[in-house]
Amino acid sequence: MTTKLLLTFAICRLIVTVGLTVDPSELLLLGVDGQLSVDPFEVETASLDFGLLTRAEPMAVLHPGSADDIARLVRAAYISSHGFTVSARGHGHSINGQAQTSNGVVIEMSGGSRGSRLGLRKLDKPQVSVKEKHVEVWGGELWIDVLRSTLEHGLAPKSWTDYLYLSVGGTLSNGGISGQAFNHGPQISNVYELDVVTGKGEILTCSEEKNSELFHAVLGGLGQFGIITRARIALEPAPQRVRWIRVLYSNFSTFTRDQEHLISLHGNPTSRKFDYVEGFVIVDEGLINNWRSSFFSPRNPVKISSIAGNGGVLYCLEITKNYDESTAGTIDQEVEASMKGLNFIPSSVFTTDLPYIDFLDRVHKAELKLRAKGLWEVPHPWLNLFVPKSRMADLDRGVFKGILGNNKTSGPILIYPMNRSKWDQRSSAVTPDEDVFYLVALLRSALDNGEETQSLEYLTNQNHKILRFCDDAGIKVKQYLPHYTTQEEWMDHFGDKWDQFYRRKMEFDPRHLLATGQRIFNPSFTSSTGTVSPW
Ligand code: FAD
Repeated sequence: MTTKLLLTFAICRLIVTVGLTVDPSELLLLGVDGQLSVDPFEVETASLDFGLLTRAEPMAVLHPGSADDIARLVRAAYISSHGFTVSARGHGHSINGQAQTSNGVVIEMSGGSRGSRLGLRKLDKPQVSVKEKHVEVWGGELWIDVLRSTLEHGLAPKSWTDYLYLSVGGTLSNGGISGQAFNHGPQISNVYELDVVTGKGEILTCSEEKNSELFHAVLGGLGQFGIITRARIALEPAPQRVRWIRVLYSNFSTFTRDQEHLISLHGNPTSRKFDYVEGFVIVDEGLINNWRSSFFSPRNPVKISSIAGNGGVLYCLEITKNYDESTAGTIDQEVEASMKGLNFIPSSVFTTDLPYIDFLDRVHKAELKLRAKGLWEVPHPWLNLFVPKSRMADLDRGVFKGILGNNKTSGPILIYPMNRSKWDQRSSAVTPDEDVFYLVALLRSALDNGEETQSLEYLTNQNHKILRFCDDAGIKVKQYLPHYTTQEEWMDHFGDKWDQFYRRKMEFDPRHLLATGQRIFNPSFTSSTGTVSPW
């Protein structure tokens, strides 16, 4: 009863604030299978994300019980004469409020703070087709749960993110990348079919063959064209174990030459290439105690100062080879042969061997450690850039050895190359023009510990400096998980793709109701108090 009253109150607020013409009882009577909630704790959860940099409070939160619930809600927003915004929230792991909305409803696709506890999710579990080698999953499914379900059948998705507590819909709205991307492409290149609720409230099935414009629009589409409620994802036989190797370099060009050589082998038979190629930059010894470096210690302690050359900066190449019982006898030779010709520092080879699931879920272990120290729920001013291969040396000089030089590391700085040929240019995702480009990911945490160089203000200023440096040096970077505040910046980001992006938006979400937290389009509805801005 109290919930109903609160809900009616929230909907009345919607009416007053945005001129919603849906009768409150109409929203109450939407007849959702799930639950529409105004519980303050849930509203608070939906107003925050991993970045902890922005906050926008929705009017209500929907825990959908089905794709139909989502379609009903979006349709109500679409047909109301004034409208309200709707934002799908996966696991809320965005940095800059991309899944937030004020003056609207957040849909908790992955259960949110309360949904799973209350047993609200009665959505289908992942359905594996062993014969077709694919899995059908709910759009809010977490990748860790997709993995667990497919492993029961000895299968696994081909392309990953480093961290698995992200939703399928959330990563497919961006790209979804990790060290397998050079070989299999990003996660958006490994999807066969989607069900999508468009901004008009229709549920459409789309694929390469069917509604292909919507299919390509949604992949990498930053949630702008529809809400993914189902995805059919490609699978491969799951390996049992992983040989995981890290080697160090003090020379940047040797490091990138080796990385580029390794990703150029993508067309080779499995036995003659690595399955995963990543890397990171070590700008100080702080990284040794960092969340991704437990690898080195305590069995393999590294004293960076003893091997770092030029400017004290080291580069770590990270590679893996998958294997199972049938190939266990040859794994040592295969690794040795594949590493022949690499020019790392000979004394710096660190090897470990672990089950496949433990490798894929490695960042979660680090998360648990950081949580225990109270270092997980802190602001994350992350900056992810796609950088053309030809300008990486400039970036090294200007950023790793320049702007970041002499600072304590506040988080991992990943750096690894990808083949552009593995990205479908019909999708909405944007990459640099060159055949090979790098991800440079500054995944830093801000701490309020009195050290200026670890403060949010300092790290944010450094991010601005890095972007300005790239701009001044004419390095045509593209932001991954992009964040801009003006439409001019978005037009610049999409470049040649902007016209298509805009046309697709007008077709699939003409009232600009969806994912307003991306700050690309203003909702087209107005109220007596003027245009409603989502931010
Ligand atoms: P949310 O943050 O909830 O949503 C992101 C955007 O997608 C929002 O605009 C939202 O409206 C939209 N959206 C969410 N669900 C749907 C849906 N079903 N349909 C349509 N739109 C939807 N990324 C990588 O590529 N590789 C990595 O290795 C990687 N590692 C990460 C590690 C950590 C610890 C974190 C915090 C993030 C990482 N990311 C990585 C980034 C991550 O992929 C994105 O932030 C992603 O958007 C997060 O997924 P989410 O489910 O939390 O989405």
